[in-house]
Amino acid sequence: MIELARSTWTEVAAHMKSGQTESGRTTAFLPFGALEQHGPHLPLSTDTLQCGEIARRLAERTDGILLPPVHYGETWGNSGHPGTISLAPSTVTAIAVDIARAAAGFGVDAFVIVNGDYGNMNPLVLASRLLQMEHGIPALVIDYPGLVAAGDAVKESPWAAPGLCHADEMETSMILAIDPDLVHPDRYAPSYPEMPADFGHRPIRLGDLAESGVFGDPRPATAAKGESIIEAVVANALELVTAFQSAVRG
Ligand SMILES: [Zn+2]
Repeated sequence: MIELARSTWTEVAAHMKSGQTESGRTTAFLPFGALEQHGPHLPLSTDTLQCGEIARRLAERTDGILLPPVHYGETWGNSGHPGTISLAPSTVTAIAVDIARAAAGFGVDAFVIVNGDYGNMNPLVLASRLLQMEHGIPALVIDYPGLVAAGDAVKESPWAAPGLCHADEMETSMILAIDPDLVHPDRYAPSYPEMPADFGHRPIRLGDLAESGVFGDPRPATAAKGESIIEAVVANALELVTAFQSAVRG
């Protein structure tokens, strides 16, 4: 694995050269996060930390290239809370396309975007299509595969809505596993807002439903649960990456 932000260009050149004979070494992983509210007890960088950790483990296990994370994303749904900064969807698409094209320029032949934020998904899927159709760069988007099952395996608190994971037991557990100094357990407060029947089917800002920004109960969170959720997602993602690499390379 090579981490671009901590490497010199000569080290990158050597890695790319060896990748011509060892399949996998020329796959790049881009964590795409967000700066968005995660309740009073988790940092604004929660999604970036989560996808950054998943991308790091994927790069380690495939001997790939780890790109530095994008710390901003499309998070209109969390606007209204101080500190949340949202990009336009077209900006997210453009950032992903620009980074992939630059990486392809020095030999990356398989580009994996590891998404950390709900609002990024559609813009990143569009980016992967543009990369493939207009630039001939194979791109895969990973979005916490198997997260619901991984959560159900360890969760003690109910979901605020099916599959909705925001500042709850799951996200709090993951940040406890990744960087516990950023978690404020003294501020844990459960929140189960009434969810409109059409939630997820029209634009709804989370802050209009729950003032605290919490959807669930962070109190049962532990680092061990977070580690098991992250590992389950990484295992599922590895299967996707392997299938993608063999599709790309034949
Ligand atoms: Zn989140």
